[in-house]
Amino acid sequence: MPLEGSDYFIYVLQLPDGVPGAIRLNSDNTYSVYLNPEYDINSQIDTYEHELWHIINDDLHGEKRIEDLEKQLRNGT
Ligand SMILES: [Zn+2]
Repeated sequence: MPLEGSDYFIYVLQLPDGVPGAIRLNSDNTYSVYLNPEYDINSQIDTYEHELWHIINDDLHGEKRIEDLEKQLRNGT
């Protein structure tokens, strides 16, 4: 699993309106996960889990986007 051995850092910071979270693959192969403090704690936890799935699924490597701003949380992922 890609999560194993992957370093990631959590940041809580203001994001654009309607964006609960974001994830970014850094050039050193670590991840930065961003959570929007405008959302309540349960939403932040959901967002956090959602972003972790991107790491587990290895969504940000290869030809996929290196940055993912979440407009809406989807159910499941
Ligand atoms: Zn996502």
